[in-house]
Amino acid sequence: MSGLLIIGASYAGVQSAISAREAGYQAPIRIVADEADLPYQRPPLSKGFLAGSVAHSNLILRGADFFAAQQIDMKLAARVVRIDRDARRVELQDGELINYDTLLIATGSRARKLVIPGHDRDGICYLRTLDDAVTLKRRLEAASSVIIIGGGFIGLEVAATAAKADKAVTLVEAGARLLERSVSPLVSQFLLDLHRSRGVEIRFNETVIGIEDADGAGHAVICSDGRRVHGDLIIVGIGGIANDELASAAGIPCSNGVDVDSYGRTGAPNIFAAGDCSNHFNSFAGRRVRLESVQNATDQGKSAGATIAGKPEPYVSVPRFWSDQYDAKLQTVGLAAPDDTAVVRGDIHAGRFSVFYYRDRKLMAVDSINRPGDQMIARRLIAAARSPSPEQAADMSFDLKTVEQ
Ligand code: FAD
Repeated sequence: MSGLLIIGASYAGVQSAISAREAGYQAPIRIVADEADLPYQRPPLSKGFLAGSVAHSNLILRGADFFAAQQIDMKLAARVVRIDRDARRVELQDGELINYDTLLIATGSRARKLVIPGHDRDGICYLRTLDDAVTLKRRLEAASSVIIIGGGFIGLEVAATAAKADKAVTLVEAGARLLERSVSPLVSQFLLDLHRSRGVEIRFNETVIGIEDADGAGHAVICSDGRRVHGDLIIVGIGGIANDELASAAGIPCSNGVDVDSYGRTGAPNIFAAGDCSNHFNSFAGRRVRLESVQNATDQGKSAGATIAGKPEPYVSVPRFWSDQYDAKLQTVGLAAPDDTAVVRGDIHAGRFSVFYYRDRKLMAVDSINRPGDQMIARRLIAAARSPSPEQAADMSFDLKTVEQ
């Protein structure tokens, strides 16, 4: 059949197929995906779906009719185990071989596993796929106490969902603050206060070294200082790992993800990559980054798909991310670095504020809590390399839109 073969049917894989068609790609397109479900949205898995407010049927990204109309052939529940670059074909787990003219790797990322004594006990959950979410939802309903290992986005969103469902929640974090790699200390502190006000117990600087039976009453998580935390259910959210092994085994250059340029091209001819599994030079960060976000996967998919169709389009979007916890909507735009100067706009105590990050008085990124308007403006400002002064950003009477003119 040949044509375009895509490995992975999530945001990056699906978008690249759609964008290739939109840009006039006429040859066959086939997506091979190891999950059995039609492509679905992941963000609600830790939010509305887990809480029961978003139904299974509302998770679907695109239905079977859409793929049929676009002549995109979808092969589900099929895992690619090898890329043979010389023969231009991939091998599936069941031995089937599929030829390609162009290959796009959109294999995403997976949850990092905790490898400590007791890690394989029944009742220790991860959250990456719909199957994981269905299992976690069922177990969460049955649990009365929950231990969350990791104070990143997934851990915090699950903590919020569990606390809202009146579970006793303890979160254990190895670092000194929440979301340490993603947001400033100001936002970390706001989220810490928010979670504590909802009854979540949060412990910092605690490394989990083992998990045992708590005398027949659930699990005991053992921390490095000897302390034990008891709970019925454990959820581990300690970060993601790029699924780049297929690419690296095929000799395609990888460094924490498949290395791609701004068109999604890898170091191998006719092979592209996009989304969580890839890393790229990001001009807004000034360095190579591997991002895990819907925006990044979708926009990389767009430019790779168009490029494959012969209409090269570079990936130049300003990175964006969001997270919902209780009634706080956290949105971030741009990429901040730890040494950037943070300036607050708005009222932290009222739960409506933004943090503007500056490097040499240049606006690099903005985190907002319940201020979507700031995000809209900041996105345009960062894209156009325009910066309000830090003093203007801090002054609520200053209209940021005037900086755009
Ligand atoms: P993925 O979504 O990881 O999909 C890759 C697919 O490829 C998977 O189905 C995988 O099984 C398949 N695959 C892998 N290897 C093979 C193989 N060898 N053969 C066949 N198929 C293979 N982002 C946000 O921006 N905002 C949020 O609020 C947010 N919340 C999230 C909540 C949760 C619970 C999770 C898990 C993620 C969240 N994210 C969020 C991150 C976002 O979902 C990811 O960045 C996005 O899904 C990445 O898309 P992708 O297409 O690159 O890869």
